[in-house]
Amino acid sequence: MRAEDAGRIIDYLDRHRPATPCLVIDLNVVKRQYHRLSTTFSDTEIFYAVKANSHPDVVRALVGLGASFDVASPAEIDVCLAAGAAPGRLSYGNPIKKRRDIAYAHSRGVDTFVVDSAEEVGKVADAAPGGRVLCRIRVSSDGARWSLSEKFGCGPAQAADLLRTARSRGLRPYGVAFHIGSQQLKPARWNDGVALAARVFAELADDGIELEVLNLGGGLPAHYRDSVPALESYRESIETALSLNFPGGRRPRLAAEPGRFLVADAGLLRSEIVLVADAEERDGRRWIYLDIGRFGGLAETEGEAIQYRLSASRSSRTEEPAVIAGPTCDSADVIYRDANYLLPTGLTAGDYMDIHSAGAYTSSYASVGFNGFSPPDTYCIGA
Ligand SMILES: *Cc1c(COP(=O)(O)O)cnc(C)c1O
Repeated sequence: MRAEDAGRIIDYLDRHRPATPCLVIDLNVVKRQYHRLSTTFSDTEIFYAVKANSHPDVVRALVGLGASFDVASPAEIDVCLAAGAAPGRLSYGNPIKKRRDIAYAHSRGVDTFVVDSAEEVGKVADAAPGGRVLCRIRVSSDGARWSLSEKFGCGPAQAADLLRTARSRGLRPYGVAFHIGSQQLKPARWNDGVALAARVFAELADDGIELEVLNLGGGLPAHYRDSVPALESYRESIETALSLNFPGGRRPRLAAEPGRFLVADAGLLRSEIVLVADAEERDGRRWIYLDIGRFGGLAETEGEAIQYRLSASRSSRTEEPAVIAGPTCDSADVIYRDANYLLPTGLTAGDYMDIHSAGAYTSSYASVGFNGFSPPDTYCIGA
């Protein structure tokens, strides 16, 4: 997140002093990110992955910008429809769905479904007759900070089979989807997914089935501690992959499902320091305990995978290492132990710790109240 964007949120927090922990989202930044993406990927339908942040104001802002939506459950369908999204702009992207949830989606007018197994094709054919289906293929998430690719997806030959079966069951074989892993720092990695998908397109074309859509998934990065490649280099890599694997201009329509890219840099989480324990009292290192941790929304700090930029309300001339932990009694609730965070000397209970670029996968990950700690409240600012 840009310093001036964080500054605006910090001003808001200093003026209103809401109870912590809390997340503030600047909707103007969501809009800016959407515009950047839809300019750079002007030929691509953008489906916001609602699970990244399902706050109604965020979804409403994206409806206003003309976004489509990737949903995974009836509740996410309801959020989008309540925010004014047209049901035809929703894609039910979770490859495992209860039959009654498919029927619910169908009854609400949703007609695009992702599958990756024969059983799921059967469920969709029964519960959403005539629906459009994309098949999810499996790709490695090498290069990604948070794997989203290793749980679902079949091989290209199976994908072709499933889409043939879909047609024989009265469904409309619509396309191929993949997810190359979240916070993917290697733009060249999209080539794998595009190449595998092209095999499915080619195999079905031999049978006279013309797939229409290639869904490039999510994976575009936010700005955490490390620098990340520019959006343009992702576009260039994807462009190269498309020309290589779909030669002769016979390209499918493109779709993408960004979550993190659209909302992470728009959000800042404010937490309060509950306790600072001296190095002598612990393992030779200073421990800083916050009022938010692994269970309050910082789930992606597991394995220290996502390393947020932090800033404290108190500054000092010197900085020292710290272990940073959450407020619960679970030993898993340590946020950063090995990631070498240097924080001001002299921090003390009651100081604030601001967690930057925290708009994605935080509030949506928070437990309902482990150890009695409530999930963070969300406030949206900006038009
Ligand atoms: C979570 C998810 C996304 C969003 O991924 P990001 O890396 O946050 O952009 C997109 N598509 C599917 C199917 C997902 O599960």
